Amino acid sequence: MTDFAGLKALVTGGASGIGRATADLLAARGAQVAVLDLDPSTVEKPLLAFRADVGDDTSVREAVAAAVAELGGLDVVVNNAGIGAQGTVEDNDDAEWHRVLDVNVVGMVRVARAALPHLRESRHAAIVNTCSVAATAGLPQRALYSATKGAVYSLTLAMAADHIREGIRVNCVNPGTADTPWIGRLLDKAPDPAAERAALEARQPTGRLVSADEVAGAIAYLASPLSGATTGTSLAVDGGMQGLRLRPV
Ligand code: NAD
Repeated sequence: MTDFAGLKALVTGGASGIGRATADLLAARGAQVAVLDLDPSTVEKPLLAFRADVGDDTSVREAVAAAVAELGGLDVVVNNAGIGAQGTVEDNDDAEWHRVLDVNVVGMVRVARAALPHLRESRHAAIVNTCSVAATAGLPQRALYSATKGAVYSLTLAMAADHIREGIRVNCVNPGTADTPWIGRLLDKAPDPAAERAALEARQPTGRLVSADEVAGAIAYLASPLSGATTGTSLAVDGGMQGLRLRPV
């Protein structure tokens, strides 16, 4: 992978899991990295930390402006902050639908809107959105979450088309179940966490969960000049789940 020396990156949800692994990888490759997170208290140097709620436009605009000022420009945006939701359409009320759509979809729009004027100034501008296998896999008990990720996928394509002639590439990664604190919290709530973990592992063709570092590697590739001719696409990081057309049991 080419190095990121001289590039400036913003990673939302960068305090934990996939976002943190991505921020650390980009920094290790030479990027200056700003993390935007609801709780950036665990973020350490050389990463720059900014508190922001992607569900709040003012918060996003202020944090992006502060991050760009400190970085001295912006080349890469990793739109990664997201929250989960479980159940069928009968299990979540309107307020819950609005809350999760607002964070997972409109949150990415808010960050893009604040970042685009700065990305237009870059010669290596790239946006990478964290989508999910849920966008296309038809996962049971994930109606609301899947709908948000389906929207992230469509948004990625539309943004890629809108900004291609401005030299801004837009792609997404579609992770399968990734071993992050998010999944840890889910397992903690299960009646039998070990059995639940085994079931999650079994539904991946590789028989294991994806690591946060593996997702970070895919994000870094799509963010780097190495993928300079790639835009409007999704990269599955799912242990073969989508490519092999295997369905969860
Ligand atoms: P995580 O919970 O470990 O990390 C998410 C981070 O986002 C946290 O630091 C959290 O504070 C931050 N965040 C949440 N809401 C925010 C908000 N409103 N404003 C700013 N920051 C906010 O989760 P993760 O597993 O690393 O997930 C990251 C992304 O990957 C999400 O978009 C998720 O949908 C996606 N994803 C995860 C998996 C998985 O299995 N873990 C699979 C596919 C896709």
